[in-house]
Amino acid sequence: MASKAGAELTARSGTTWGYAPAPESRDVVSIDAEYGLFVDGEFRPAADGTSFATINPATEEPLARVAEAGPADVETAVTAARRAYKKVWRRMPGSERAKYLYRIARVLQERAREFAVLESLDNGKPIRESRDVDVPLAAAHFFYYAGWADKLEYAGFGRDPRPLGVAGQVIPWNFPLLMAAWKLAPALAAGNTCVLKPAETTPLTALLLAQVCHQAGLPPGVVNVLTGGGETGAALVRHPGVDKIAFTGSTEVGKQIAAVAAGTNAKLTLELGGKAANIVFDDAPVEQAIEGIVSGIFFNQGHVCCAGSRLLVQESVADIVLDRLRSRLATLQLGDPLDKNTDIGAINSRQQLDKITELAAAGDAEGAERWSPPCRLPDRGFWFPPTVFTGVSQSHRIAREEIFGPVLSVLTFRTPEEAVAKANNTPYGLSAGVWTEKGSRILWLAQRLRAGVVWANTYNRFDPASPFGGYQESGYGREGGRPGLAAYLDV
Ligand code: NDP
Repeated sequence: MASKAGAELTARSGTTWGYAPAPESRDVVSIDAEYGLFVDGEFRPAADGTSFATINPATEEPLARVAEAGPADVETAVTAARRAYKKVWRRMPGSERAKYLYRIARVLQERAREFAVLESLDNGKPIRESRDVDVPLAAAHFFYYAGWADKLEYAGFGRDPRPLGVAGQVIPWNFPLLMAAWKLAPALAAGNTCVLKPAETTPLTALLLAQVCHQAGLPPGVVNVLTGGGETGAALVRHPGVDKIAFTGSTEVGKQIAAVAAGTNAKLTLELGGKAANIVFDDAPVEQAIEGIVSGIFFNQGHVCCAGSRLLVQESVADIVLDRLRSRLATLQLGDPLDKNTDIGAINSRQQLDKITELAAAGDAEGAERWSPPCRLPDRGFWFPPTVFTGVSQSHRIAREEIFGPVLSVLTFRTPEEAVAKANNTPYGLSAGVWTEKGSRILWLAQRLRAGVVWANTYNRFDPASPFGGYQESGYGREGGRPGLAAYLDV
């Protein structure tokens, strides 16, 4: 399927050759027919016996049935986490906690191929990304925070920094394993125990990570994984035994959670949506900028909260940048996520595909001009072609709302001041990109852009040592680096 779609793309774009298929074997992972909840160190069915199916979004084939946690399971998991916190984890020296985190990191590396294939099957992302980005970065987070576990008293949080207790963590479907690592690693390093709720459409790698925790000998109850839908997440964040809530997902749900947390003592961090500007000046190295624009919005099908979804290009170079961008997009391979040639995989769910389709239609209706490279989409599964809208004005919905798909809105500017004003004209404030050869201009912009992360002459780079988080409707609190520890300490 991949090679057919890929060949079509390259053939129609004038290239004389296509790619031979290079599928990764799915035999490296064995998927059970059914999965239980991971509570108190063991897998068990939901108390009321309910379960749901998780499917492969590239084919719509069912992969497994997964237990759906209800309020009784939330109660059991929070109780197990509390017990493990009081009896084991809080009392354990940091150097001992670190050993478990190092072990988890090493097992993640050893089983990297298995994780990558499972992630691509359940999420639809290209294997090249799960193999080269998601899994190595997840392991890197455990290695990084393992290094902090025995150094908390030297981290600038006072002489005896205390953990918060039980962390309730709710994560989305765009980076299922990586978000689990972002949440678990700092929480555990700081001495908290965790109840993690993965997204309904992507539970499998979190459950494999639970197996890894078991394999690493992590004491029962330190990490619990409750699969389920929004109701499960809502029950978890409402539970009075949760001392810390960490959420990544939509701004809408983030606001609901903030309202719940407002009446409690729970500490809260929110990592929500974004509508980042990727700003290209006339002195930018054009070929590099093109790669940055492409990875900025088409990496992970654009299912990225910090995606560079608004391209702001200086008017004097807009034509040349758009010409080169179109040529580059015509070479992208769309299709089978397990094919190592694939650049653009499947959209994660029908619901998300409907949202992208609806917003793109709003772009047409509001008068923007849509362009996609010639590209035949597979017959089954959820797919959306790489899409560029030009003639976009700031009031258009596609310039204001998070599309969370492979759709780029292009706007132009003339002066640096105009670039800043347009970039900041958003309710969000998670990230931004700047492409210019002038270091002074980069610094000038970085001071003025209201965004938690500003990338210069690169985009979508992540490192466990680097704090990540937003302003305004993109949420509050930071994950990663030393600030990521503060989110799990009583400071
Ligand atoms: P949600 O915010 O609904 O999902 C994020 C997580 O929260 C999931 O685990 C979800 O469970 C859970 N959840 C849903 N409702 C509640 C609730 N009331 N209380 C506690 N937890 C809850 O995102 P969607 O998947 O619905 O995506 C919608 C849009 O959100 C996307 O189109 C995109 O624009 C944005 N988004 C942004 C992300 C980011 O990283 N900033 C990530 C994902 C989405 P379940 O999935 O099982 O419903």
